[in-house]
Amino acid sequence: MRSVDLENISKYIEVPDNARTLLEQCERQTIINLNVRVSGERLLAAKCFVVYHNTARGPAKGGIRLSPRVTLEETVDLAERMTWKTALVKLPFGGGKSGIAIDPSTINTFERINLFHEFVHVNECALTHGSYIPAPDLGSNPLDMAAIYGQTHMLECVTGKPPRVGGLPGRLEATGRGVAYTARTAIEALLERPIEGATVAVQGFGNVGSWAAHFLSAWGARVVALSHVGGGVYEAGGLDVESLIRDFAKASDFSGAPGDLITNDELIALDVDCLIPAAVENVITAETAATVRAALVVEGANGPTTPDGDAFMADRGIYVIPDILANSGGVIASYIEWRKAKSGSITGRDEVFESIDSLIGATFDEISALAAARNLSHRTAAEIAAVEEVVQAMRDRGWI
Ligand code: NAD
Repeated sequence: MRSVDLENISKYIEVPDNARTLLEQCERQTIINLNVRVSGERLLAAKCFVVYHNTARGPAKGGIRLSPRVTLEETVDLAERMTWKTALVKLPFGGGKSGIAIDPSTINTFERINLFHEFVHVNECALTHGSYIPAPDLGSNPLDMAAIYGQTHMLECVTGKPPRVGGLPGRLEATGRGVAYTARTAIEALLERPIEGATVAVQGFGNVGSWAAHFLSAWGARVVALSHVGGGVYEAGGLDVESLIRDFAKASDFSGAPGDLITNDELIALDVDCLIPAAVENVITAETAATVRAALVVEGANGPTTPDGDAFMADRGIYVIPDILANSGGVIASYIEWRKAKSGSITGRDEVFESIDSLIGATFDEISALAAARNLSHRTAAEIAAVEEVVQAMRDRGWI
């Protein structure tokens, strides 16, 4: 399944056959065996997938996912989403992604560093030439990026590093900030109600979900539910997000938290203004979409909605703001980090947040206008804008 249905998009804009040929396949897909002997008897042997989907608009940009279940197919899907995401917000990057099939909870800090050094070893050429620029994704973190940075002689070849090691203040919060700003903008513009008092449920309390909940609650929204993989917590009057971040950010469920314990499916079905799936893909299926009572869904995770789930929600008039806009805050901050290193400029946290808010706000307005003018969903409008941008870049490069 492709993240964007080009057949559908070509009903609205011209997508030449040669463009489709190039966009329906990846420029490069590599499968590497990462083998690292970390101590006398212990060998880490993990499959590693490195994918560049399309680099017409710039070097392949995309995070490294660490998960025992990651596959080549999933990495391809995520790389393709990066092509559309960077094009939609007009950053000078193409789409890429890596996946390392390992359970991060089974390796210690020393082993992680060795694993990432090996990742550099096998991808050294692409990293040092700047043709692939990684960042954190599910299961990886800024310290892993610091390991890559050190091993590449501190070339500006990786983003999402800790602020003291060439990173950017605000990068850690950036994806969640963008998700929160998208939700706020959509609540105000589409539901025509103020953010203060709007009710929100967030699935996933990792990097994206916890920061999204943090900003929304700081702006006065009532965050009534949060969840981890093992389940969530609900409090109709609103949760104390900061104390949950302090006590439950590293947990896998909310046992012992104040409030009612709920399942992830129950969270999806809550009667709230805005539902934010910010954990994993394919959680809103035809089956779970039938239970959604939110008026608005803001996709914090990559690909949380299946095509059937999407069609179901569109029929019921539920607004869905797609991942390629809603979670673009991370790659926007990555771009600022990359640019900062090239120019030597110093950028503060507030400036990073202002850039995310203004770029997401302007893109939201652009796709909302297109959606309204042509009676389209926000997803289709965003995909039209992104595909048009990439097709035009391929023309500019003389590829088609
Ligand atoms: P994370 O590992 O920090 O957190 C993941 C959260 O999801 C945890 O709370 C975990 O318990 C929960 N979870 C895991 N499996 C689940 C399941 N089956 N059902 C419900 N909850 C589950 O990951 P993250 O960095 O916050 O990324 C979350 C999503 O956002 C992913 O789809 C990722 O690709 C996407 N994303 C992340 C970034 C980023 O900068 N971190 C940027 C863009 C997109």
